[in-house]
Amino acid sequence: MENDNQSNLHIGILSSPGIGHIIPVLVLGNRLVAVHNVKVTVFVVTTAGSPTEAHLIKSSDMANNLNIVEIPPVDISALIDDNTKMVTQLCLLVRAALPGVRSALRAVSHGLDALVVDLFCTEALPVADELKLTKFVYVPSNAWFVALTVYCPVLDKEIAGQYVDREKPLEIPGCKPVRPEDVVDPMLDRGDQQYREYLAQGRGYTMSNGILMNTWEDVDPGSLKALRENETLSKVVGGPVFAIGPLTRNIEERDGYGMITQWLDKQPRESVLYVSFGSGGTLSGEQITELAWGLELSEQRFIWVVRPPSECGSDKSFFTTGQGADDMSDYLPEGFLTRTHNQGLVVPMWAEQTLILRHQSTGGFLSHCGWNSTLESLTNGVPMIAWPLYAEQRQNATMLTEELGVAIRPTKLPTKGVVAREEVMKLVKTMLQYKEGKEMRERVQKLRISAEKALSTEGSSYNSMCEALDMIQQRRDLKLHIK
Ligand code: UDP
Repeated sequence: MENDNQSNLHIGILSSPGIGHIIPVLVLGNRLVAVHNVKVTVFVVTTAGSPTEAHLIKSSDMANNLNIVEIPPVDISALIDDNTKMVTQLCLLVRAALPGVRSALRAVSHGLDALVVDLFCTEALPVADELKLTKFVYVPSNAWFVALTVYCPVLDKEIAGQYVDREKPLEIPGCKPVRPEDVVDPMLDRGDQQYREYLAQGRGYTMSNGILMNTWEDVDPGSLKALRENETLSKVVGGPVFAIGPLTRNIEERDGYGMITQWLDKQPRESVLYVSFGSGGTLSGEQITELAWGLELSEQRFIWVVRPPSECGSDKSFFTTGQGADDMSDYLPEGFLTRTHNQGLVVPMWAEQTLILRHQSTGGFLSHCGWNSTLESLTNGVPMIAWPLYAEQRQNATMLTEELGVAIRPTKLPTKGVVAREEVMKLVKTMLQYKEGKEMRERVQKLRISAEKALSTEGSSYNSMCEALDMIQQRRDLKLHIK
């Protein structure tokens, strides 16, 4: 694959708000600049009062080589209440920001050749048409999730009643069926607005000239094949799909994180369990207590990023990450911090996850299975305890445990009840002490190597990105912008 003539391309990438969305967009932008020599402008739909995101965007290692345009925040407070779900809020934010997106794009449009929108920004695709830009959707997740999303409008017509009440799994042509309990959050209640937003997103993907996914061939072969070749599914998709990942952050150690790495330096190889629930995940007070006791009783080393309790499986802190670190002793079991002083580290609110996962002392990751966290774990060769909470995390957990064999999980879904301390203890010991953990570690090492290969020059993900860029180039040369 040649990428010499791609050096004169200028691509805009539009990100929805939320750290878990901005990170993969910045990572994609950086890869396009560094590896494919493309000029990139990132447009970020911002929310009022979100200092962590602003900090992240401006932090040097992520934004150095990118032109970053922040779309001014919009006020949607009149459109939402306490019950408005996260997907609905995101879609409302993006919808309200569209005039700002349009003017920002117009301001550089003479120089842009393509617009890549993230999964929550598909409503901006018509703006790409107005400006005669080639348009892609970037889904920073896996192909199985993409298959479910594009096929959901068909399921909507074929299936009556709530998906979660069904006994049989949902069939997606050519793909592994999705168990009703594993459906993505917006499919949990077909009467909620976020379901309608999700259906619109699925249709939106298919209006693009191609779908970019943060996955790679070896991790997702069945669903990728189905999206491309299954007669029914590929017709619904209606265009090419590109597996361009796994794209993950590569951050450098900075002042302030020394304490964690210094502690890790003193621990034996692969002996520490890292516990974190992404940028937005929270646990109930009761679950925090059981998790704390489980960690303590396991007598295994740990680093736990702790947030104040909220409703179980909540994504309520999605927009407010890093704020409001209350006194941890208010919600951790009495004496826990003192008793585990020599066993583990408890970090309030936020830790530099990739530094922890790449450290040789880290031997397992108890994770909510957000796709960024999943990729960061796999690419560092760290097996997981899957603890899905929201979004598409239940699907991810099933893929990790049942297909890839690189994770174990509690017997019941953490969103369906409290996982007791005894089970936590057993999972932790299995991960760090028993043969099963060792076998998972061996399997995840193979995936780590295959991920490196996919991203290397002439690897499958590298070639896939080149194909997408060639498509932009050809459409520009032919002035064939609109699908
Ligand atoms: N993250 C981090 N420190 C934390 C929590 C999260 O660095 O304490 C980063 C993590 O490395 C990942 C992102 O935030 O890149 C979370 O994305 P993911 O898709 O895993 O979950 P989401 O936050 O979208 O639920």
